[in-house]
Amino acid sequence: MADIIQLLPDHVANQIAAGEVVQRPASVVKELLENSIDAGSDTIKLIIKDAGKTLIQVIDNGKGMTATDARLSFERHATSKIRSAEDLFSLNTKGFRGEALASIAAIAHVELKTKQEQEELGTRIEIEGSTIKNQDVTVTPKGTSLSVKNLFFNIPARRNFLKSNNVELRHIIDEFHRVALAHPDIVFVMYHNGSESFNLPKSNYRQRVVNIFGGKTNEKLVPVEEETEVLKISGFVGKPEFAKRTKNEQFFFVNNRFIKSAYLNHAINSAYEGLVKDGSYPSYFLNLTVDPKTIDINIHPTKTEIKFDDEHTLYAILRSSVKHSLGQFNIAPVLDFDRDKNLDTPYDYKNKNAPTPTVEVDRTFNPFQEEKTTSKSGHHSSPYRKESATQWESLYVGLESKGTKTERSFSEIEFESEPENASLFSEDKSVETSQTTYQLHNKYIISTIKSGMMILDQHRAHQRILYEGFLKHLTVKEAVSQQLLFPLALEFSQTEMELLVQLKEDLEHTGFVFSSFDNTTIEITGVPINVPESEVSIILEQLISDVEQEVPDSNFSATDLLAKSMSKSLAIKTGQSLTKIEQEHLVNSLFACKEPSVSPTNRVTFITMSVDDFDKKFM
Ligand code: ADP
Ligand code: MG
Repeated sequence: MADIIQLLPDHVANQIAAGEVVQRPASVVKELLENSIDAGSDTIKLIIKDAGKTLIQVIDNGKGMTATDARLSFERHATSKIRSAEDLFSLNTKGFRGEALASIAAIAHVELKTKQEQEELGTRIEIEGSTIKNQDVTVTPKGTSLSVKNLFFNIPARRNFLKSNNVELRHIIDEFHRVALAHPDIVFVMYHNGSESFNLPKSNYRQRVVNIFGGKTNEKLVPVEEETEVLKISGFVGKPEFAKRTKNEQFFFVNNRFIKSAYLNHAINSAYEGLVKDGSYPSYFLNLTVDPKTIDINIHPTKTEIKFDDEHTLYAILRSSVKHSLGQFNIAPVLDFDRDKNLDTPYDYKNKNAPTPTVEVDRTFNPFQEEKTTSKSGHHSSPYRKESATQWESLYVGLESKGTKTERSFSEIEFESEPENASLFSEDKSVETSQTTYQLHNKYIISTIKSGMMILDQHRAHQRILYEGFLKHLTVKEAVSQQLLFPLALEFSQTEMELLVQLKEDLEHTGFVFSSFDNTTIEITGVPINVPESEVSIILEQLISDVEQEVPDSNFSATDLLAKSMSKSLAIKTGQSLTKIEQEHLVNSLFACKEPSVSPTNRVTFITMSVDDFDKKFM
């Protein structure tokens, strides 16, 4: 029988290898930036067009390559970084596999220009799909410029698989952040479609974090420093009250390399135990330095996972140093999650206006007439007030909650919000008031129905109600906003701002009013009618996080996402106790919805059990 095994031609092997190294434009960005760092550059520029689909270019001022090296660099397993397997255990470069350039050149149009300092002229090489198209001598500054155009031009399936520009750009920026955070001593500049997205000067670590994540970050950082025999930790963790709805600000670097480690992440979370609410994630920017011999970074081709020899020890040290820092900066006592529920505004008052005080004048009163009555307690009652005590009190009915409530109502009166929208739940108050409801474990509302009983999840049900309300406002575009007494300024990072800009118009349709929308700050002068001012930043953060996680493919609708996200943020939570009236409103409003049976995220909102079901159970 004939032999059937063949050696794959190089370009095929390279294409296959490329699949592992290059998943998306961001992978190219990572490899190129890392090569520039390994080349000893102190200024690195990243130029992106169309989220990397058209162009990814990295220009550095590192040591450059000779003409021979330039040619060789595109060969598979061509690396200047290790010579023997031994070297793997004392690695201090980012790359070592010698695969990146070969892989990239197999699936894109690549142009390399490079020159070493002492040379007059440099080398220019053009490659398309592993084939060298051109090599010549060129005038170019010291360092290397590598352009990658038309990524996946020869693998249409991969190209089609790429996500929207938003998503791909998000991945690129993530990689850029990771590399830039690990090297504050290097200048990084990034351009996207001709405009500068980041310009990070050489700085200390704290400044680098602030330059990337925005000015507001500075006040929330708590330094962590620890040095033991096996591990050195330096960096910052975020104060618990600034914990975010997203995991975007969680960074571990091991020996200057970004890594992901669920185990170490757990160590941090456990240091924050009791300090952050569920669903919030503390920020951290931590550099761990360990002996390279005690780690194995070789276990994953894209090298973000890592194996430590002694994970348990690292866990313990990390946890206790973070705890120590949080304690030292007196962070724990500031928080009070155990606030008294009774002080909160009752749920059904939230949407009500305070009654406007009325002054009643006794027109028959004549000061010269002899007084007919004296007060029972013996002293004179004020002639200007009739039945003072009872009337006075009646003015405050509905306001017997804490101070903030009074302020809110005041601002509503001041700006005359429309009562129609103010009370989501009071519309059909009259309907079925005889129905009985019962709240179970502050989570479910049980209500009797003709056939038996209905159990409703309060959080999901309220989400559905709010969601339909927001959708209506968004589509009809006539939401009413409630003006804030003082404008609210909120700061966001550049990436967050990019998303917010896209959502601005929709946010306005829900009732937000923005007075300014600049680089990293937005100023809000009005909010949707049901939104308490204190919730605004949480809502926007949640929204950003939801948009980031959503994969904006064909059926992506900003309107829908916004309505979903806001209803998620604002819906009454599990654990909240509701009065009878609130419970009934919830039930009635749910059934006034177009689609009462599922939450906006398609979860069941209620179940029913018939008397028959019960009968069966009692057999
Ligand atoms: P690795 O980084 O794993 O060695 P690469 O394929 O990324 O493999 O790069 C191959 C070789 O090309 C590197 O070892 C290095 O010698 C050279 N090289 C790549 N990029 C640059 C650069 N920006 N400046 C100087 N040399 C570079
Ligand atoms: Mg490399």
